[in-house]
Amino acid sequence: MIEFRKVMTNQIEFRFDPLTEEQTRINPERAKRLKQAEGDIRLEEIISKSRETCVFCPEQIEGKTPKFPEAICKEGRIRIGETTVFPNLNPFGENHAVGTLSEGHFLDLDEFKADLLRDNLLATKNYILSVYANDRQAIWPIWLWNYMPPSAGSIIHPHVQILVEKEPIPRQARLLDKSKRYFKLTKKIYWEDLVAEERKLDERYIFGDDSVSIIASFAPRGFNEIQFIFNESSLADLDEKEIDGFAGNLTKALCGYKEIGIGSFNLITYSGPLDKTLHYYSLHTKLFSRPYPKGVYTSDTGPMERGYDVWVIDTLPEELANRMKPFFD
Ligand SMILES: [Zn+2]
Repeated sequence: MIEFRKVMTNQIEFRFDPLTEEQTRINPERAKRLKQAEGDIRLEEIISKSRETCVFCPEQIEGKTPKFPEAICKEGRIRIGETTVFPNLNPFGENHAVGTLSEGHFLDLDEFKADLLRDNLLATKNYILSVYANDRQAIWPIWLWNYMPPSAGSIIHPHVQILVEKEPIPRQARLLDKSKRYFKLTKKIYWEDLVAEERKLDERYIFGDDSVSIIASFAPRGFNEIQFIFNESSLADLDEKEIDGFAGNLTKALCGYKEIGIGSFNLITYSGPLDKTLHYYSLHTKLFSRPYPKGVYTSDTGPMERGYDVWVIDTLPEELANRMKPFFD
């Protein structure tokens, strides 16, 4: 029942998401277009300058970041390995926390070792469960990673954002609703069908084992977008083995990104609720690139995305899958 619908017009592929039917337009030729404003800047300069006053660096984090109330964490901040989780001073959501990923002020994409990511995910899970234990209505967890300023990350020091909200984000609610409808209609699970179909086609399928499948999205909403689809419905359902696997696969994906020439990205999670397991839904994450960090650059998001909710992309998912596969061998 999965339909990978695409229409070719004027060398542009109009693709429709198999679940939501949202539109993506892909034109790989656009990657070669003239970009008049591409100023160069010394990235090392920004990195070393921002290090001097960075409150996420080990010398300052203790004195300059807020603490949780005792009910959430007795010590005030959750620490595992190089990760420290603490409240976000400038939140945009409920129970909005920040978690550093490293003690180092800057890590290149191929420098994120699996244990750094694993420790961060374990601390994230601790935080989510602690919030939930205190407020049984806070059931919608989110784990976000904005890497470097073009991704909207205002602080260079590697960190993630963690939210636990009482209502699902509208897009999350939509995904759940569509997944439920698919199940009612077909008596099958969309996410299982999607993975089976992608594996069979072998055009966008990158990797899979018994806990996760990794594919390049058919109708991406971001450049170089890949999805991790888990055999669990919520973030907090990931056990230690699954977290280990997630961390290891993420380091491989980031090495692939580095090789492609990517210097900024977003990672987002779409998680089911904490209070029940939804059999028709799979926790999944999306990883997509953002413009390379340099002085002035052409944004990858314009009026089509902001105003029309249509995604204009210049990277082909099938080519991306081919470039990423070797990193998972
Ligand atoms: Zn720092």
